Amino acid sequence: MAAPMQRCPKCGTDKPRTAAQFHKDPANRHGFKLTCRECTNAAARAAYAADPQKTLTRLRERRSTRAAMFATHPSYEAA
Ligand SMILES: [Zn+2]
Repeated sequence: MAAPMQRCPKCGTDKPRTAAQFHKDPANRHGFKLTCRECTNAAARAAYAADPQKTLTRLRERRSTRAAMFATHPSYEAA
């Protein structure tokens, strides 16, 4: 089955809604982010360039939050 096309609101390009073009996002019903992989990566790079410390702090916090989650939920054991 062909993947439906999805227009990225940032670059306005129609791309197939696949993991190769869009990051996954369980928050969306179709399971992918609205902005394409390229634009998401560009935004992340820009944010890091603007304030590396903020990005590093956020990643560090996310890492420890996830580590705590994995530690308390046995069902999250590595597959
Ligand atoms: Zn895009």
